[in-house]
Amino acid sequence: MESTGANHLRTKIGLSSLSRKSVVLILDGLGDLPVPALGGRTPLEAADTPVLNRLAGIGSYGLVDPVGPGTIPNTHSGCGILMGILPADVHRLKRGPVEASGAGRNLTTEEIALRANFATLDRQAGGLRILDRRAGRISSGTDELAARLRQVDLGDGVHGELLPTDQHRCVVVLSGPGLDPAVTDTDPGDRGMPAFFKSCRPEAAGAELTARKLDLFLEIARDELAAHAVNLERQANGLMPANGVITRGAGRGFSLENVLDENGLSAAVVAGCNTVIGLTRTLGFECCTDPRFTADAKTDIDAKLSAALHALERHDLAYVHIKAPDLFAHDHQPERKKVFLERTDQALEAVVRSGAMIMLAADHSTDSNTGAHTADPVPVLLFDPESPAPDDSQPVNFGEAACAGGNMPRQSSHQLLLRLMSLMGKPAAR
Ligand SMILES: [Zn+2]
Repeated sequence: MESTGANHLRTKIGLSSLSRKSVVLILDGLGDLPVPALGGRTPLEAADTPVLNRLAGIGSYGLVDPVGPGTIPNTHSGCGILMGILPADVHRLKRGPVEASGAGRNLTTEEIALRANFATLDRQAGGLRILDRRAGRISSGTDELAARLRQVDLGDGVHGELLPTDQHRCVVVLSGPGLDPAVTDTDPGDRGMPAFFKSCRPEAAGAELTARKLDLFLEIARDELAAHAVNLERQANGLMPANGVITRGAGRGFSLENVLDENGLSAAVVAGCNTVIGLTRTLGFECCTDPRFTADAKTDIDAKLSAALHALERHDLAYVHIKAPDLFAHDHQPERKKVFLERTDQALEAVVRSGAMIMLAADHSTDSNTGAHTADPVPVLLFDPESPAPDDSQPVNFGEAACAGGNMPRQSSHQLLLRLMSLMGKPAAR
C-alpha cells in the first residue's frame, strides 16, 4: 500500500478503533535452515527487513514449535493451531475435508475426501514412476482436466469425483455406503521422492472397500488424463503432462473446538490458498478472498493487508496468510524467498501505522536445501503499539539465530496465541 492509502485508511478507520485488535500474519514456511548460497544464513536472516527488525527490537520475539518440538507440521495443522484449534485435536484435522471445504464442497456422512495433486507419472520397467508430484506446477487447464472425472461410477454404489482447486492441487471425494478413511496415502510427499506410485492400502479392518475404490478411481483418472487434449498440448510445448493423480489425508467432515470462539473472539482470514480457505470455512470464520489474493508470489500483499485492516472493523483478529515463502523453499529458491520476505517487510509499514497489534508467525519451517518441511522451530514476533518500548531498545536482525536468543521463551504456537489473547485483554478462561 502507498503511504497515502495507509493514511486514508487510518483516517477512515480511526487509530483508536484498532486498539487491542490484532493482525496475525502467517508466513507459510517462513522458518528455514542456513543455505550455502546465502553465505550460511537463512533466507530471513539474509533478507533486509528493517520493519521486522524494528518491531522485534521494541516488541517480543523468539522461537516457536508450531505443534510441538520434534513434530513436522503441515500447512493445515500449523495454521489450524494459530487459528485456535487445540493441539490435542490436531490429529483429527485431516487435509482432505479441509480442501473439500475450500472447494465449496460440504461432505455428507457417507462421503470422504482426500487432498490430491495432479502429478506426472511415467510407466517404466519397475512400475509407474512419479516424475513430478506437481505436474510441473501446472497452473492452467485443470478445470478441463477435472471435468472428465465428475461422478465416476466405481460400482457397489460408490462414486468418485475430482475437484480442482488452485494450481496442481485438487480434491478427490468418494461417495457411497461403507467408506472408511483409514487408507494409506498414494502421494509419497517430497521426502519420499524419488518414488514409484504405490497402490492405496487399508490401514484398518473395514477400509478395504475404500482402498479398492480409490485405486480404481485413480486408474480411471490416469486413463482419462493421459489422452486429454490439455496434456497433449502441454507435451507439445515441452511441459510436464498432468497424467495422474496422487492422494493423501483422507478424512470425513468434522467440527472442532476453538480457543478463540470459546473466549468470545471473532476472526477473519485473508487468504488465497485453498487449504487455508477450507480451514477458515471449517472453523466458521469470515473468509476474505479476492482474485488479487493468490497463493503464490504474484499475490498482492498490500491489498491483503488492507483487507485485513478493514476486517478489523468487524472482528477482533484478522489473519493474513501468505504462501510464497513456502513455495520458494520447496522449489530450492532461497534467494527468491529472501527477496519475497523483503517485499513483505516493506508492506508491513501500513499495518504498523494502523495502530493494530501485530503477530508474525508461521505454520512450519521449510528447508530450501532439501525442499521439505522440517521440525525446526519458526521465528515469531509480537508487537503491541501501546506497550512502551524499553529505553535501550535496539533493532534486532530478525531471523532464526536472533530468535534463538529472543526475549520470549521457546513455546508452541498454541501458547503464542494464548499470549496474544492476554495482550488483547482476553486471556483464555481455561
Ligand atoms: Zn505451509
